[in-house]
Amino acid sequence: MVSYKELGLVNTVEMFKKAVAGGYAIPAFNFNNMEQMQAIIQACAETKSPVILQVSSGARKYANQTILRYMAEGAVQYAKELGWEHPQICLHLDHGDTFELCKSCVDMGFSSVMIDASSLPFEENIKLTKQVVEYAHKYDVTVEAELGVLAGVEDEVSAEESHYTKPEEVIEFATRSGCDSLAISIGTSHGAYKFKPEQCKVDPATGRLVPPPLAFDVLHEIEKKLPGFPIVLHGSSSVPQEEVDTINKYGGALKAAVGIPEEQLREAAKSAVCKINIDSDSRLAMTAAIRKVFAEKPAEFDPRKYLGPARDSMKKLYMHKIINVLGSAGKAE
Ligand SMILES: [Zn+2]
Repeated sequence: MVSYKELGLVNTVEMFKKAVAGGYAIPAFNFNNMEQMQAIIQACAETKSPVILQVSSGARKYANQTILRYMAEGAVQYAKELGWEHPQICLHLDHGDTFELCKSCVDMGFSSVMIDASSLPFEENIKLTKQVVEYAHKYDVTVEAELGVLAGVEDEVSAEESHYTKPEEVIEFATRSGCDSLAISIGTSHGAYKFKPEQCKVDPATGRLVPPPLAFDVLHEIEKKLPGFPIVLHGSSSVPQEEVDTINKYGGALKAAVGIPEEQLREAAKSAVCKINIDSDSRLAMTAAIRKVFAEKPAEFDPRKYLGPARDSMKKLYMHKIINVLGSAGKAE
């Protein structure tokens, strides 16, 4: 049993309280490797932004849960080395699907876990979430739950179609499960293909696809039912067209990838939405940078020469999100 507190990590309680009151959101960035972790910590140290480092089931399979946990411990020390005196870094399990998995993360030093039982019937979702909450809270570990179903694919999380969260269910769910934050479905979705082209309009000026707006009416209904309660948005990448264009220019084949416009996320961040998950955008930034090096310097075979630019590109993306979209810069001095 390792407590996250010994590792210098924090849970989400204070982060979320301040974010809801201050009208901004905490970035939740997924990480799978050293370059991604370094880019996240560099961006957060430079902007003094609190951050949630997320570990998905795909990341656990790819990099190993234990290694990622030690990397998060390293991230705290790295942040201090970069001059961030009081880093606020949370290590979070993304989409935990069983009690045993959540327990193993609590036991090895995660400061927050998500139990995603959103595909189960309402009562079973409450029951499993409550079981995780009862265990996690013994160790001051915070728990995110989910109500409603997101469309799209993110690692192994997939749902054919989305079902918006029903505002009339949130009070009972939050009260009976005891969760600390709630992921809701209001039109965001996992992956880089969030909408089918036929769901979008075409912007006549740019020729780009414009997706349907998020269901802010549902969000506001939920806020009214649970004033000040931390709300989470998954699948909130914006799929920057310049990254998609760079990928395609250098041999990629990403067709009609569409994300959530940043103006809408900015608006959401001002509400009770206090955690915004971003994964695909970092993948795109990394892939674009690597493809560019491969195309322009085909003789290059030193991984540092392409992973380095990829890391720089991801850092730039994270800083942009923190400063211009989430508003979390300067909130962890
Ligand atoms: Zn998710």
